[in-house]
Amino acid sequence: MFATSIIELSQSALQKNIRFLKKQIPKSTRFSSVIKGNAYGHGISFFVPLAEKCGIRHFSVFSANEARMAMKHRTAHSDITIMGAIDNDHIPWAVENGIAFYVFDSGRLKRALSAAEKIGRKAKIHLELETGLNRTGLSGRELDQAVDLLMVKHNALQLEGICTHFAGAESLSNYLRIQNQITCYHNLCQKVASNGVKLGPDHTLRHTACSAAALIYPETVMDMVRFGIAQYGFWPSQETEINFFTRKLKQGKKTGWKDPLVRVIKWKSKIMSTKTVQPGDYIGYGSSSLVTRKSRIAAVPVGYFHGFSRDLSNRGYVLVRGQRAPVMGMVNMNMIMIDITHIPYAQKGNEVVLIGKQGDASISVGSFGELTRFINYELLVSLPSEIPRIIVD
Ligand SMILES: *Cc1c(COP(=O)(O)O)cnc(C)c1O
Repeated sequence: MFATSIIELSQSALQKNIRFLKKQIPKSTRFSSVIKGNAYGHGISFFVPLAEKCGIRHFSVFSANEARMAMKHRTAHSDITIMGAIDNDHIPWAVENGIAFYVFDSGRLKRALSAAEKIGRKAKIHLELETGLNRTGLSGRELDQAVDLLMVKHNALQLEGICTHFAGAESLSNYLRIQNQITCYHNLCQKVASNGVKLGPDHTLRHTACSAAALIYPETVMDMVRFGIAQYGFWPSQETEINFFTRKLKQGKKTGWKDPLVRVIKWKSKIMSTKTVQPGDYIGYGSSSLVTRKSRIAAVPVGYFHGFSRDLSNRGYVLVRGQRAPVMGMVNMNMIMIDITHIPYAQKGNEVVLIGKQGDASISVGSFGELTRFINYELLVSLPSEIPRIIVD
């Protein structure tokens, strides 16, 4: 291969995750697959058709650009919704292509109306409500005006969804804030419904839950759920995982503690060269890594340029021949050095696993993530799109 590392995406892993997540929500609830951040680093162009093969028919993206990518690579004409950025200039493009988008200001709604009337096709709108995240979202008079316009112009504007986003459902320290948001959401929904908007699975979809909310606050699961991190096989946080199992145990479910989520991603490279160094020598730049015994070390052509965090300097592990090999010295731009003294037959060309399984050993991004101060999200999305992706099994 030309590239120095490669990412494998496992279809069976994704299938398992989706099956598990679907079991956590009612049958009538739609599953939206969140694919912002280049599908959390997995690669949007690979992930979209893969997810469609696993039965996904709805994608949530952040930007118009991601919507365009998803559109280009979908094979089953799945629905696409933009949760964040789209310039008013591109609203006609979205309307023309049947791409839905969140509305959180009156300017965007007016632009949607004029585009829909001009093109002769309904604009698909998701009203985003302000419930306490204080990022984007409508409330007060602005919300009333938006609902009025939607009712009057229902021939041009289709209110497909009414939604909000929680302020950190993956951390229990936000419990009260989330509860307040849920109450606020219901109150606003009631107000909207009293204006004649029909809410429900066959009408305007109510959706609030991300992965963490869906897994630990079942009351947030409504007509649609927006699953991001969990579908890729990662818990939003350790707290979410513990909370989920504790709740299941309390309900008397014999789930055990076996992780039902399987990582979709495997990231691997190869040993580029090996050498022997003597006690008293230092490895690589600077003097952070003093060798205290005669050692065999290997160079692996992956560095922070490729998304291997500098925080893993002298701390991270990779896998060679099914064994852990520690990172020696600083993570360089394009390379790391690893200690293979204890792996006798390790040699140039051997597979090096940076994330994923090898034999019985595995490096989860979870443990990778805890070593660095990164959380899963940040680590995954820092995998550059240039690394080739292949789909396996
Ligand atoms: C990212 C995002 C999600 C998905 O969050 P996960 O924690 O990855 O499940 C859902 N909704 C919105 C609005 C988002 O931005």
